[in-house]
Amino acid sequence: MKKIQSLRDSLMSWYKANHRDLPWRKATNPYHIGVSEVMLQQTQVTTVLPYYRRFLKRFPRLERLARADLQDVLKVWEGLGYYARARNLHRAAGFILNHHQGIIPDRWDDFRKLPGVGDYIAAAVLSIAFEKPYAVVDGNVKRVLARLLLEEAPLNRSTSIKIFKEAADRLLTPRDPGTFNQALMELGAMVCKPQQPLCSACPIQGLCLAYETGRVDEYPKKLKKSPAPQFNIAVGVVFKNSSVLITRRKPEGLLGGLWEFPGGKIQNHEKAKDACIREIKEETSLSVGVDTYLGRIKHAYTHFKIIMDVFCCSYHCGKVKLNGPVDHRWIKLENLDDYPFPKANHKFFPLLKKFAATARKGDITKSGQAGNDLRLEIDNLAKS
Ligand code: SF4
Repeated sequence: MKKIQSLRDSLMSWYKANHRDLPWRKATNPYHIGVSEVMLQQTQVTTVLPYYRRFLKRFPRLERLARADLQDVLKVWEGLGYYARARNLHRAAGFILNHHQGIIPDRWDDFRKLPGVGDYIAAAVLSIAFEKPYAVVDGNVKRVLARLLLEEAPLNRSTSIKIFKEAADRLLTPRDPGTFNQALMELGAMVCKPQQPLCSACPIQGLCLAYETGRVDEYPKKLKKSPAPQFNIAVGVVFKNSSVLITRRKPEGLLGGLWEFPGGKIQNHEKAKDACIREIKEETSLSVGVDTYLGRIKHAYTHFKIIMDVFCCSYHCGKVKLNGPVDHRWIKLENLDDYPFPKANHKFFPLLKKFAATARKGDITKSGQAGNDLRLEIDNLAKS
């Protein structure tokens, strides 16, 4: 018990003197703290910072978020990834407004029932905003605990969470649990880093078993992951007069609720161009022809990678009848920025706009040089 108290004291003093000055650390409003914790799940602090500010500028109060259109929420979230977080945050705000008179519940059972809330978010918000004694266990905390205690449980095995949770619960100080949780996470982020931890600057070095036994490099243990699968996708930008067709993904699942250009997986032995025509027909019932190959985009999601071939197509005939997407629009290219799109689509937007601008000046499909220049740029962009 003496050692645990010594660890708590050292960690808390270190945190008070060394923590980063982040906007959500000054927040006392549980809604602001909740937004920051949802954003910080699986995303780096530096990436979150501008999104946090922009989100709260747009939706400063929970009620504003609850009454907002989902598309506006996704637009502000655009580029941050893991869009289920934005959809759940929006649903949770509506639920709190309707079932808790707009007041964020501070009891575990009530808070845990909110849409999208798991143990991590519940423990983080309830401890930081309401000083409830729940230990937070994220990737940083698991790494610190694995080294501190020479914990053999692999970090990325789902059943290991129970072991780390029990260890974190034992260390948590009931007096100021929110600060303690933040201190342990901060130590993992700033000192006990995944590579080359700064043990000489560590406030709990004297209690760390990995340091004492010279085995820091061996921890945390991890199961070997199989390489992420790769899918080849064909996508078409369908031009009809001076508009292009966009479709909206169903609200659930990967990239749910976002807009995109129609397309899908290229089948074995199928040419990308043929897959583009087939997928557009299957998804929208439209018959189109491929005019130009715009280029290739590469993008990595958490569990898979895609290689996307993008074509400019012209509308031939048919009326839009959706199979898969839940909505569609014919929009002007200059209005693309009004809609939330996945990052992979954003990768070819500048070139698509340039293509359209060049096409307005002359027929790009007949201009081999312009097309080649454009393709080169896209290839460079895909490599970057
Ligand atoms: Fe991590 Fe090194 Fe501190 Fe141990 S001494 S907790 S390995 S930074």
